[in-house]
Amino acid sequence: MFNLILFGPPGSGKGTQSEKLIEKYKFKHLSTGDLLRSEIAQQTPLGMEAKSLMDKGQLVPDEVVIGMISTALDANKDVNGFLFDGFPRTTAQAEALDKLLDFNKTSIGAVLFLQVPEEELISRMVNRAKTSGRSDDADENVQRKRLEVYSRDTLPVANHYRKSDKVVEIEGVGSVDDIFTSLSTIIDKKMSQSV
Ligand code: AMP
Repeated sequence: MFNLILFGPPGSGKGTQSEKLIEKYKFKHLSTGDLLRSEIAQQTPLGMEAKSLMDKGQLVPDEVVIGMISTALDANKDVNGFLFDGFPRTTAQAEALDKLLDFNKTSIGAVLFLQVPEEELISRMVNRAKTSGRSDDADENVQRKRLEVYSRDTLPVANHYRKSDKVVEIEGVGSVDDIFTSLSTIIDKKMSQSV
């Protein structure tokens, strides 16, 4: 089993690249943002509580997302590997994920970190808002808040994984296909090292 974290700020292309990666490598895609949006669509109490935080650009509590990931890991015992997208977003989430994977006798194989400058991120989110229907994309103040939360709470997650030499930085500006090729090259290399 090979597990991957696709890491990077909001708007760095994690969702777009995840779709291509799951098709190529048949990973089980675990996006906490998608899981939360599905709770919102079903109007569950968890979804309603999460929506008010997401609309402000704030993070949903660690216990909530860790619980969702724990359930998803239990429900998918026979997969090739997991692609985590938008999770972990805090050091506490990263520590919880390490424990959950350890319990399942597996671990993170690589953390691929998409590098995109801040102004490019804002312009991508503005464009995405035109088609995504995501209320958290539409307002520039919320976008700035998400980037602020990213710098403060999420960036330290990269250092957590740097300790075990798992982080590979990838240029996230360029064509979708070129970025996908860069990601695939690293994944192939890391997979061959892990067998
Ligand atoms: P995303 O689709 O990954 O951009 O996530 C959209 C929003 O969902 C974020 O701005 C957060 O409010 C919430 N969210 C998604 N994943 C997490 C997470 N791992 N921890 C806390 N909040 C999350």
